[in-house]
Amino acid sequence: MAYFDHAATTPMRQCAIDAWVEYSAQLNPGGQYRSGREASAVLAQAREDIAEALGADPVEVVFTGSGTEANNIAVRGLFRACANERIVASPIEHPAVLETVKSLAVTEGAKAQWLPVNTAGVVNDLGALDAPAAVAALMWANNETGAIQPVAQAVARAASAGTPLHVDAVQVVGKQPVDFHELGMTTLAASAHKFGGPRGMGILLARRSPAPAATLTGGGQERGLRPGTVDVASAVATAVALREAVAEMESERVREASLRDELVRGVLAAVPDARLTTTSPVLDSHAHFLFPGANGDALIMLLDARGIEASTGSACAAGVNRASHVLVAMGVPQVDAAGALRLSLGRTTTAHDVEKVVREIADVVERARVAGAL
Ligand code: PLP
Repeated sequence: MAYFDHAATTPMRQCAIDAWVEYSAQLNPGGQYRSGREASAVLAQAREDIAEALGADPVEVVFTGSGTEANNIAVRGLFRACANERIVASPIEHPAVLETVKSLAVTEGAKAQWLPVNTAGVVNDLGALDAPAAVAALMWANNETGAIQPVAQAVARAASAGTPLHVDAVQVVGKQPVDFHELGMTTLAASAHKFGGPRGMGILLARRSPAPAATLTGGGQERGLRPGTVDVASAVATAVALREAVAEMESERVREASLRDELVRGVLAAVPDARLTTTSPVLDSHAHFLFPGANGDALIMLLDARGIEASTGSACAAGVNRASHVLVAMGVPQVDAAGALRLSLGRTTTAHDVEKVVREIADVVERARVAGAL
């Protein structure tokens, strides 16, 4: 089987599985007795390791239940912490941010302003950041196309207006260097299962000030931002996975970029009217194609039948006959957007996997176009 959906989730690293198993017997890190203190020390070490890997202070590391939850806590919490009703965000955010902004508009009177995006899927006008807002959100790299966003510029623009900026870095952490202090955003979301840690573990980096207001109520764990007993084993597995991902980041980036380039060359040669959705700046692990006239779900099923696992890249569009919001924001016509395919690479991807896609893609697209014409 050739797995090309690493952007959705990537297999757990062996070091993370080992740590997860080793620490699975840990008890409540909030306990005041010996086993609690032991668990608390293990958790503190994991927090320190993550802080070090991401250029943050340990107190700024908040363990959450997912990247989605980290995004929710930050965007909702920063909005509630400020009297301003404006929110500025890009329209290509993952639903974890996009739907949060939309729901704040419906339930809490937020006035959302969307940043324009060019045809390459990159935010190209940050003007909306010049007026103060309760919170602004800009993802670091888009999960569907891999397009890298102008986060450093957004940090500077938001800072001059006094607006807290949240960055969804779920696709970037473990793939590119991240230094929370140097970059200077207010909050940052990451997700362990994107870099070989366990699923169900997110990281929120949150400065002491301005800090999100608490949106969940409970026992006050994780600075009150994410109350609930922390899963110590998953926290350690996350720290270990992140350390390994950071250590091999550069060599892996180069390896994946070369495989991705080979993949792109092969696919475009096999299907000459295919379009590579975005070129630069883009994550080295992503190749996102449009096959005009093809049916996206048929593409996925036909590839699956040939032992190739990939996705359209858009969770909410899968199985639903609706163009992805990201492609709509980029101005891609509906008929082209219907034939989207994301092939995302990771550390288990081999040259053999790439050859397999290149061998099968022309036939798969031809058949998916028949399905698209029905
Ligand atoms: N943000 C981005 C950019 C993502 O790609 C994803 C996952 O696909 C998420 C947020 C949500 O992360 P999680 O699956 O941990 O909730």
